[in-house]
Amino acid sequence: MKTIFEQIIERTIPAHIVYEDELVIAFLDITQATEGHTLVVTKEPYPSIFEVPESVISHLFMIVKKLSLGLKKAFDLKGLNILNNNGPVAGQTVFHYHVHLIPRYQKDEVQF
Ligand code: 5GP
Repeated sequence: MKTIFEQIIERTIPAHIVYEDELVIAFLDITQATEGHTLVVTKEPYPSIFEVPESVISHLFMIVKKLSLGLKKAFDLKGLNILNNNGPVAGQTVFHYHVHLIPRYQKDEVQF
């Protein structure tokens, strides 16, 4: 059974893709906790951080940095939460490694 994110990578289901290379893909989270909420996802369906090779995760976080600057330019954000849940007890719901970029605005009251 393919993960929902594999189906997005394969274009079987639609998503608003904002970045893609050979190792990672980034697209808007369907939920939009705040405007611009983006997921950065490994192309390989590693279930969680425990399985991701160091070379892949270092590349992914370089892209997290670039996309953080991109979000800062695109939106009038005042801050940014970078979040990664690993395992059901940590709140993970999609078992395909991903990092959340959640822009924060002056007046939003979202709690994580
Ligand atoms: P987790 O709870 O595993 O840290 O985050 C999974 C995220 O995937 C959630 O924020 C959820 O809104 C998002 N998500 C689940 N299904 C889809 C989908 O079909 N498309 C997109 N773009 N995001 C999804």
